[in-house]
Amino acid sequence: MECPKCGYFRKAEDPFPEYECPLCRVVYDRYRGEPHSSMGCEIIATKKDAQKKYRALKRKVWLLNGALIMIVLVSLVAVFAGVLFQPAA
Ligand SMILES: [Zn+2]
Repeated sequence: MECPKCGYFRKAEDPFPEYECPLCRVVYDRYRGEPHSSMGCEIIATKKDAQKKYRALKRKVWLLNGALIMIVLVSLVAVFAGVLFQPAA
């Protein structure tokens, strides 16, 4: 096990715990940064966020489609009403 900070190569007889450098006392995993498990969580969180955004977008598209259909229907009804109930000139 080589220390990522000071480069000390630890020996079996070193009195400090395996996760710690006997020379500079750095905790190997902490020095290297976040462990892999939390990185996986981050990826999952990003995925969930993307899914949420996609669902929100889908909902917006649906609302837009609904509004468009309503406008078309209302204008159709208005046209028909105009044709049917034209005041006799
Ligand atoms: Zn070290």
